[in-house]
Amino acid sequence: MGIYETLGIKTRINAAACYTALGGSLMAPEVLQAMNDAAKSFISLHELQQKAGERIASLTKNEGAFITTGAAAGIVLSILACRTRGDLVEIQKIIDGNAKRSEVIMYTGHRIPYDSNIRVAGSDLVTVGDAIQTFDYQLEAKINEYTSAIFFCAGAHLAGPALSLERTVEIAQKYSIPVIVDAAAQLPPVTNLWHFTHEMGADLAIFSGGKALRGPQSSGLVVGKREFIEAIRVNAAPYARLGRGFKASKEEIAGLMTAIELYLAKDHGADWQRWSKTVDAWFEALNGKTACKIWRDDVNEAGQPTPRIAIQLSNPNALEIISKLQSLDPIVEVVHDSRRMIWISPDSLQAGEENIVITQLLKALPTK
Ligand SMILES: *Cc1c(COP(=O)(O)O)cnc(C)c1O
Repeated sequence: MGIYETLGIKTRINAAACYTALGGSLMAPEVLQAMNDAAKSFISLHELQQKAGERIASLTKNEGAFITTGAAAGIVLSILACRTRGDLVEIQKIIDGNAKRSEVIMYTGHRIPYDSNIRVAGSDLVTVGDAIQTFDYQLEAKINEYTSAIFFCAGAHLAGPALSLERTVEIAQKYSIPVIVDAAAQLPPVTNLWHFTHEMGADLAIFSGGKALRGPQSSGLVVGKREFIEAIRVNAAPYARLGRGFKASKEEIAGLMTAIELYLAKDHGADWQRWSKTVDAWFEALNGKTACKIWRDDVNEAGQPTPRIAIQLSNPNALEIISKLQSLDPIVEVVHDSRRMIWISPDSLQAGEENIVITQLLKALPTK
């Protein structure tokens, strides 16, 4: 009997995305093997983190890399690194509650649920601009002696109201303020592993290990300038300092490193072709069969280039359709908003699940 069966838990079909609440993504056998290997011996965790980081850095055209327990952990560690620059006295002052104030600037248009991690790092969030636009002088006006970092959320879906990353980095460099890019879900394309840092000049970029990289669900990656990666190291486990709670194990380090190697070696064009074929078949199977407007949409919920199908309901009852889908067996998970929109994506499916997605959707969607 499998572990989920023992607990009376039904597995689900993921036509949604790499959502933590669904278990993130599924690890490749090579990743599980690497974790198994790592589990068999004692090592120096400092040494493993250092060597795995060096290897990932050289594979991703970065000066340094650090493995942590998720992108949210990466946000906290990155801000601690920018606040302290790895200075043990500054770290101790934060622990003692005697540190000077710290402010992290972010665009109003970039506000996301995960920005609460700025507060976890003991910093005040300072927003700049509004939901429509931001001007250079507005960003410059927010920079002061307490500014620790500018926190930039990457993604085509957030770009509108904010200054570009290029302009942000230019202004930040003028004031010697580091720029942290939250790129947690910005894969694919694989080139983003170096785009924000090596190409655009950001100091640090943060990725989830358990989304498209298909590493351990509780893993994350920070890449960037050596100085700041070293500053992360001084704050993080295995030291018993502020970052101790984000302790990547030897198994997670080995697993994520292997997942990154696989992701770099992967034929991403072939993935796109396969997903594209599924999405075209879904369009044929759904179009005209329901009372909904259906089209192919090649940008996903995080603004990344991934083929998917958009379904627009004629009534604002998306939540009713979702609860219908949840009452069927097997349950098919989809992306939705609270009104009229549902999206289905092929990138988290396992072989043979493509048709079940359609069968269940046809049971749940309103017919003509
Ligand atoms: C998913 C996500 C996070 C959190 O990532 P975890 O790896 O689950 O901690 C942070 N920021 C953004 C933009 C995300 O999409």
